[in-house]
This record gives sequence, C-alpha cells and structure tokens, in this order.
Amino acid sequence: MPTTTSTPAARTTLRSAETPAHAMPSVASVDLTPFEAVNFQVDRAARALGMPEHQQVGLKTPFREVMVELPLHRDDGTMRTYHGYRIQHDNSRGPMKGGLRFHPRVELDEVRALASLMTWKTAVVDVPFGGAKGGIDCDPAELTRKELEYLTRLFVGRIHMLIGENEDIPAPDVNTNPQVMAWIVDEYAKYRGFTPGIVTGKPLPLGGLVGRLSATGRGVAIVTERAAPDVGVTLRGARVAVQGFGNVGSWAAHSLAALGARVVAVSDVHGGVFHGDGLDVEALMAESRSTGSIIGFDGVERISNEELLALDVDILVPAALEEAIRADNAGDVRARMVVEGANAPVTPSADDMLMTRGITVVPDILANAGGVTGSYFEWVQNTQRFRWSAQRVEDELVRTLTTAYGDVRAAAREFDCSLRTGAFILAVRRVAEATELRGG
Ligand code: GLU
Repeated sequence: MPTTTSTPAARTTLRSAETPAHAMPSVASVDLTPFEAVNFQVDRAARALGMPEHQQVGLKTPFREVMVELPLHRDDGTMRTYHGYRIQHDNSRGPMKGGLRFHPRVELDEVRALASLMTWKTAVVDVPFGGAKGGIDCDPAELTRKELEYLTRLFVGRIHMLIGENEDIPAPDVNTNPQVMAWIVDEYAKYRGFTPGIVTGKPLPLGGLVGRLSATGRGVAIVTERAAPDVGVTLRGARVAVQGFGNVGSWAAHSLAALGARVVAVSDVHGGVFHGDGLDVEALMAESRSTGSIIGFDGVERISNEELLALDVDILVPAALEEAIRADNAGDVRARMVVEGANAPVTPSADDMLMTRGITVVPDILANAGGVTGSYFEWVQNTQRFRWSAQRVEDELVRTLTTAYGDVRAAAREFDCSLRTGAFILAVRRVAEATELRGG
C-alpha cells in the first residue's frame, strides 16, 4: 500500500464508511481524512433529511474497490511498481462515472473520497450516472510518453472486466488528457470491441465532444455568473484570483474573463502571477503551453500560491488540488465568494470558518460539475452514434448548470443552510430515492 502524503499529517485512526452516523461530529475536526471529510457532509445532509442510520451507511459505502499492481519496465532498464485504483462508489442512478488521476499522491482514501464526490456531483446536476474515480500513483512528468502509454494500457488490461459504457465510464482528471483516453479506447477495444462510450474526454476523431476540454472551466464561470448576484458581487469588473492553471483553472479564468471579470492573479505548481489591472488570460495559456508554466510571463508581479489565496479579491477559485484552504489559512481568505474549481479544495473545518465569516462557498459538486455534464453529452453522442454542434453543447451546459444552481439554492433556502449543505441534501435525497425505488 502506498502511504498517504497529503496534509494535514496529524491524522489518527481512519474511520470507515461503516462509522455510525451519531459518531460523526457535527462540528468539523481538522484531522479528517479525505473520505471522512466527504462523509462528514453526507452525514450532515442525511441528518437534515432525518434519514435512518442504516440508509446513511449504505449511501456512504463504496459499491466496489479495486487496487491493481502495475509493474513498469522503464526505458532505462530499471523496474518500478505502481498502484492503480478504481473505486466504484454508487450506481443507483446509472452507470458509474468519474475521472482517472495520475499523481504521486493518489492513494485509497483519496480515491474513495473523489469517487463519493462524483456520486453527489452527478446527482446535483441530475445526469443519469453514479460515481466512481480512479488513478495511478505515478508522476507523468517523470515518465516518457512510451512509459505512460504502457502504464495506461496495463491498467486497462487489469480493470477492463469491471468497466463498460453501461457500468463504469472513466474520464480525464488531474494529469490525464484526451491522449490518455484514446489509449484507453484502443486497449479496451482489444478485449471488448470498439466502444467509444467506454470513456469520455476523448479526442474529437474518436467521438469526443466539441467543448469537452473547456466544459469544466466554462461550467465554473456559468455557476459563478448565477451565484454572484445572490452574493452581491457584480461579475463584470469583479476581481478574480484562480489557483491552479491546468485544464480547469485556465478555462475558468478564460471563461470568467470572457464574462467581463478582471482576472488579477493565477498560479500553477511553480508559483503565481499578479497584475492589478487584470491579466491577459489567453497569452498566459499560450505561455503555459509553450514553457510548461506561467511563472516566466513578462510584465507581472510574482506571488506565491499562499499569497494568491489571501488576495483582496471578489472571487477566489481554488482549481488545483484538495485541501488548499484549511483551518490554518482560511482566516487569511479575503474574497467574498470562493468557487471550488478543484474537488475538495476547502476542508470541512475551513468551510465552517468561511461560512462564519460570511464568505459564500460555491461547492465543488456544483461549481465544477460542468466537466461531468459535458461527459454526459459526449456519452449520449457515442451511444446514439450522433454528433452535437458546439452551440447545442453550450446551450445544454448552460441549461443544466442553471437548473442545478437553482435547485441547490432552493435546498439551501428550505433548510436554511450553506450552498454546500444544500447541494449535499439535494444529492443525497436523489440518490436515496433511486436506491429505494430499486429496492436497495
Ligand atoms: N474528473 C472530472 C470531475 O472530477 C470529470 C469526471 C467525468 O467527466 O467523468 O468531475
């Protein structure tokens, strides 16, 4: 088993999904593991709904967990063993759905948490999917293209019998991209025949969706546009800081700028850049593509990732990894709203601190759901052997996310709670209803 490298380090015992609901604290502790942190929100929602304990336990417990050994013969003649994971969390509302992440930090508890988040995310946007997540504990930056392809194909060889376009459909996540999805299509075809609907986020010639690459970031902007007036923020001219300049962060910055917001700061793993008058996001995307980072960009002030989180802005978009905003730095956040582009970038204790300080958090399972919504459109195209126009994709994305925001806001108002608790109440209610109807 790989060891957990994520912060905070002071975690003690790992409570399982079987932890009785009453044993979960109603106030978030600072040392929850990622899966405990998601279940903390599920429990909170289930309690608000008056759900019996056995049902809560069922909703939290993953359907199936798979870990495989991935031995890689490196190009230089050495051997290295990686671990591949696929956690299938829930399938009551449809085939399980979620990305594949290639990152050294990938481990069982984190993948469980991310799989569970997918169950609630697909329910919030009401697409007919359940939740899953997977990954390999590798650093693609250390591997050659050939090694990465081999590792991807090896992983498919070990899980192909468990996935399928009506069972479990992977997609891109951190450090995976359309090329990785193309290798998956090809490898899966060797076992089960050409099945474009086996993964989403594919390149266009293999049945990809026009606009899938930008869908998550575009979705962040659509949801921000809907939420801003409720928070008293005028999006046109609003100052925005985006942490993370990968697929989600860069397209979120791009889409928010297109709506008239002033993106004053962005960052990647190497550090951040700031300009009070606003940054040229397209030029930064070109810089990142050509040099692999934004930090060499001319005519801007350099800042650290921590400084970015503490900037005096209207909107902060954490779009990098989990646990960016924790109890120890939540007090520094000065934004009026935090829009979660990443999955779980705010820990439960930090979330409660931000709420107490009157800072609105738009939760991940709503804010970044544009990605899986785009994946749903892609899967529909693939299963119908039909291709949508860019305009249709955009219209359906706006419609789906606008409805989801309205549903979440209505739940938050009905239960007098945060948008996050409202989103979990909505999702838990939908998943529980489907489970019960199926007799589960
Ligand atoms: N990895 C993305 C997410 O966390 C997309 C998942 C998908 O499209 O299946 O939502």
